[in-house]
This record gives sequence, structure tokens and C-alpha cells, in this order.
Amino acid sequence: MGGDRAAALVLEHPRQLVEREMAVPSVGDDDGLLRVEACGLCGTDHEQFTGVLPASYAFVPGHETVGVLEAVGERAARRWNVEQGDRVAVEVFQSCRVCGPCAAGDYRRCLVHGIGDMYGFVPVGKKPGLWGGYARYQYLSPDTLLHRVPERLDPVLATVFNPLGAGIRWAVTLPGTGPGDTVAVLGPGIRGLCAVAAAREAGAGAILVTGRGRRDAGRLELARRFGADVVVDVEDGDPVAALVKASGGLADVVVDVTAKAPAALGQAVALARPGGTVVLAGTRGSPETPGFWPDLVVYTELRILGALGVDPASYRAALALLASGRYPFETLPRRRVGLGGVAGLLLAMAGEGGDETASAHEDDAVPVHGVVEPWADGASPDG
Ligand SMILES: [Zn+2]
Ligand SMILES: [Zn+2]
Repeated sequence: MGGDRAAALVLEHPRQLVEREMAVPSVGDDDGLLRVEACGLCGTDHEQFTGVLPASYAFVPGHETVGVLEAVGERAARRWNVEQGDRVAVEVFQSCRVCGPCAAGDYRRCLVHGIGDMYGFVPVGKKPGLWGGYARYQYLSPDTLLHRVPERLDPVLATVFNPLGAGIRWAVTLPGTGPGDTVAVLGPGIRGLCAVAAAREAGAGAILVTGRGRRDAGRLELARRFGADVVVDVEDGDPVAALVKASGGLADVVVDVTAKAPAALGQAVALARPGGTVVLAGTRGSPETPGFWPDLVVYTELRILGALGVDPASYRAALALLASGRYPFETLPRRRVGLGGVAGLLLAMAGEGGDETASAHEDDAVPVHGVVEPWADGASPDG
């Protein structure tokens, strides 16, 4: 591929996503090149786009990438256990494999990489620039972590590997959710739906999901199809009362995947049983926590756990669960776009999409799952 150029989207400043032809890097012994088939979009993407999330401009965003290995070095292929032509999912974090945290399996805190150079966050100034999935090709550094995608899984559906890996780690692995446990999930976006599926898969008892307002009405109905028993719109319902009514008690595990919902922490604590576990994964975007009374944590001896990212075991489990077809991920309200449609889709996901007067169509305007297909033309809305 040496000398070739290919299209990529560069976020130069907030809200300024520019298509550029970038040099396609040649591959040595230790690295690889991915032909990007699909890249999933999550809350992080629209927060990068609008500038809510601090970022090092300019960069190629996209951190939920699935594609085919266009080229792979000999040593890299051995290390990743892959061959050219394999379909793979790329982890967000890179790992040097030898520093203290990496050696201990805690590679999200890698001393060489860490949170500073996750895929979809690295400035284009760092060679070779193609560090994200909003591009026809993505560079795979020697420290990349890859997972082979099961054969039967199509690339668009496979991009759910990231939110579902998160759902498995946040709703099951970290809190230790087991058969019969009562689980409450705050937030019915894609991560919430994934958390529900993960908890259901782990054999949870009653599962409650909360949302807020009109936009979430459809998502709460969707949550039932992923295994939720009770859904509550917190604008007009009391989730604690609903949970007690449904399960006879409070939650063993509460998973908060809300975004920019400062009051959710107070609600999470209120929903947890004494000695229960609260997993905080959604970022609040503010230090304020209205309704949160720290003394309650003392009196009830709650465990409050922060969750950042996923781990290899959860990614593998996510890909297997997607391939199993046991949950209706295929039918998620989904919008697929080519590079030309990304900015519009990100605005829609940020809740700024289209005609503000068209509130009757608000649910349609905010898809649960957004996907970029860099080889498709323009915007092609597709259920
Ligand atoms: Zn994401
Ligand atoms: Zn490391």
C-alpha cells in the first residue's frame, strides 16, 4: 500500500470534521494495517465532536473499529494470532505488555500508553496519523490489542463488541453479579441495553432499567426485549418503589451508565441494598451530585466501584454473545452512514439533530446505535 492515499475524517476543532486524503502507511514486521469496515459511535464520539470532552486536536476519531487485516507483519501476526484477511475488532487501549500495570493485566493504566493514546484520540501529528476508525484504513501499532471476529458476525453488528464488552465487565465481572441477583441499570442507551443483556446472561433475577423523558420511552421498551423485567421513566415514576414491588427488595447490583445525569448517583445509592454494589461507569460531566448523601454509603456499607473500559475476557465474551444471536442486537434502531454522513449523525446523537420542530420524530432522530462505514457513499439511513 506504500504511497497510496485514502480518505479519513479529521476532527480539526470541535464541530469541524474535515475529510482528508491521508497517506496509507506501509507495514513492517511488527505492525499492521486494517481496512476499516465499520466503526461504532457512542457517547464519547459526540462529546468529542461537540467539544464537551477535552481532546488533542486534530485527530481521526473512532474507537469501536472492526475491519479486515489488509496487511500484517510476520511478528505481529504471531503476537496477535491472526493472518492477513482476518476480520478483527480493535481494542480502544494499547498495551506495551511489559510495564508494571501491563504485566499485572491492568493495561488500561499502561505507563507507555494509558488513557493518553487510546485509538480515536491520538493526534494526526503522531505518525502515521491514521489512529481512528473514521477512515478507510486504520494503522495498527505493535502495541495494539485485537480480537478475531467470529465468522458468522457481520462487521456492523460486530462493532457492538465495545459497548457489550463494557456491559459484561461493568454489570457482571466487576460487581460479581451471579444467578438470582437483582440488578438495576440506570440509563437505557446502548451501554444500558448491553448491561441488561449481560446481567440476564449471568442469570440475574429481576432487572430494572431507568430512563428519563420522551427520548427514552422507546429505549425502555427495547430494554424489555433485552431482558429487563421493570422499566421506569424517572420523570414520572419511582424506581425504588417499582423495584421493591417487582423483586421484594432493593438491588444487589446497580450499574449507572447514564451520561450527564448528576442526580443518577443519588438514585443509584437509593436503589442499592445494604452491602450491595454500585458501579459508576457513565461520566457525570460535573462535580455536583444532587441527592447524593455520603452518610448513606456508611450506614449501608455500600461498595461503589468506578469502571473504565473493558478487558480482553469481556471483549471475547461479547463477540461470542453477539454471534450467538441470543439478544436482538441486530434490530437495534441503528443509523449507518458513510464518511459524508458522520457529522450529521453525531449531531443527532448529541440531541441537536435536524429539525427541532419535528419533535414527533424525536425518537427516530436519535438512533440507539450509530455506525460509520467508511467505504459507503454519503449518508445512507438504514434501519
Ligand atoms: Zn465508545
Ligand atoms: Zn504497559
